[in-house]
Amino acid sequence: MQPSFILINPWIFDFAAYDLWSKPLGLLYIAGYLRRRGCRVHLIDCLDVHHPQMKTHSDVNHLKRRLYGTGKFWREVVAKPPPLQDIPRPYSRYGLLPEIVEQELKSVSSPSAILVTSLMTYWYPGVREAIRLAKDIHPDVPVILGGIYARLCREHALMRSGADRVVSGQGFESLSAALHEYGIHVSAKSGDAQPTEYPAFDLLTKIDYVCIMTSSGCPFHCQYCASHFLYPEFSRREPGEVLEEIVYWHRGSAVQDFAFYDDALLVAQEHHAGPLLEGLARLDLDLRFHTPNALHVREITGEIARLMRRTGFRTIRLGLETSNMPLHRELDNKVAPGDFEKAMHHLRRAGFGPRDIGAYILIGLPGQSVDSILESIQFVGAQGAVPYLAEYSPIPHTALWKKAVACSGRDLLSEPLFHNNTLLSCWDMPQKKELPRLKRMVSEIRERYRNGKAQGARHKVQGSRR
Ligand code: SF4
Repeated sequence: MQPSFILINPWIFDFAAYDLWSKPLGLLYIAGYLRRRGCRVHLIDCLDVHHPQMKTHSDVNHLKRRLYGTGKFWREVVAKPPPLQDIPRPYSRYGLLPEIVEQELKSVSSPSAILVTSLMTYWYPGVREAIRLAKDIHPDVPVILGGIYARLCREHALMRSGADRVVSGQGFESLSAALHEYGIHVSAKSGDAQPTEYPAFDLLTKIDYVCIMTSSGCPFHCQYCASHFLYPEFSRREPGEVLEEIVYWHRGSAVQDFAFYDDALLVAQEHHAGPLLEGLARLDLDLRFHTPNALHVREITGEIARLMRRTGFRTIRLGLETSNMPLHRELDNKVAPGDFEKAMHHLRRAGFGPRDIGAYILIGLPGQSVDSILESIQFVGAQGAVPYLAEYSPIPHTALWKKAVACSGRDLLSEPLFHNNTLLSCWDMPQKKELPRLKRMVSEIRERYRNGKAQGARHKVQGSRR
C-alpha cells in the first residue's frame, strides 16, 4: 500500500497580510506528485478563506472577497512575540481558528508523514505553531519541513521549528531522500486521472484562481533578491505544455483568473511567453491574467503588449524598483534610461490604462535616500502608472545581506522576525518617519488614476525581487 500524508500550509503571523493570489504552489505540486503515485493526501490549508466551519463560527466576521479572487484572510489579533514588542501595531494570526486545524489533523488516522511548507522567513511563528499542533495530535509521525524559510534559514529552522527533518534542497528528490530516512517509499505507480503532474488545486475548498509557473529562476542577479539562491538554474517549461495546463483548469474547473508566479515571465519571449500568448490568443478564451511578481520593464515590446491585451492581462505589475539609474547600476542592472518610458508607451498603445498598470518601487534599502523614493513615485505617476511601495525585506543568501546586517540596528542574523519588511530594518528613525508622507503621495496618485478600486500591494515572497 502506498503511504498517506498530511500536507500543511501554515498560518501567517504578521502585522498585515492579504490574499493577493497567494497559494502554496510548491506544496500543491507535491500533493499532485504524491497523489499521482497513488498516495493518499490530506491538505490542511490554514489560510483557507472558504473553509465551511469558519463561515458558521459565531466569533468570526464575514470575510470580504475582492476582484479576481483576491481578498482578506481570516484574522485574529494575537500577542506580539517579544522581539517585536516595540512595534506600535497590532500583530495577527491570519487563517483558520486553531481548533479547526486541530479537528482536521484528528480526522486523519495514522498518516505516514506530515509535510509542512514555509514561505517568508519572518512567518516562522506560524510554521512552528502548525508543527507543534501536528506533533501534539500525531506524536509518532515524522514532520518534515520544506519551503523558503527552511531553505533561507536552515539553521534557525533546525533549532526552532520543531520539525523532525528540514529539507533545504529543491524538488521532489530532496523530499524523497528525507522520506527514505523514515522508511517511507513512494513508488512510481500512477494514481489519479490528471493528465500530468499539475499542482493539486482541486484539493482546495474552492478554486478562486490558479497560480501558474512557466519557468523557475531568473537570469538576473539583483542584489536584494534570493531567486538565484533558491533556483540556481533558469529553466522554462514548453509553452505548449503551459497552454494545456491553463486550458485544463479553465475547461475542467471553470477557472478564469490566473496569476503568473514566474520571476522572469517575459525573458527570451520569442521562445516562451510569445508562443504561449499566441496560443492563448488563437483559443480566444475568456481569461484574466495577473502578474503579482512583476514583469521585466525592458521586455515589454509592442508585440508582447498587444498579445497581453488580446489575451486578457488585467493586473500588470512592472519591476521598476527605482527611477534612480546609478542605483540600478549598483544593485540590479535591469533597467536602463528610457526603458520604463518605452514600456509604458507600448502598454498604452496596446490599450492598457493607469488602472491596469502598477510599478513597484523598493523602499528601505540600505543607504537609499527618501528623496530618491520621492522622485521615483513622481516619475511613475508622471508616466501614467500607479506606484506601489515594496518595503525591502533583508534576505539571507543575497548579495545585499551583509550590508543589511551591518547597517541595521536589529539583530538580523539570529532573529528572522527582524526580516519583516514592515520594520524597514535598514532605515533609521528619521527615514522611517517619512513613510506616511511617501504613502500619502502614492495614495494621491492612486486616487487620481484608479478611483480607489484597484488591486494592491506587492506579492510578499522573499524568493524574488520583493
Ligand atoms: S529581482 Fe527580479 S529580476 Fe532581479 S533577480 Fe530577482 S527575480 Fe530576477
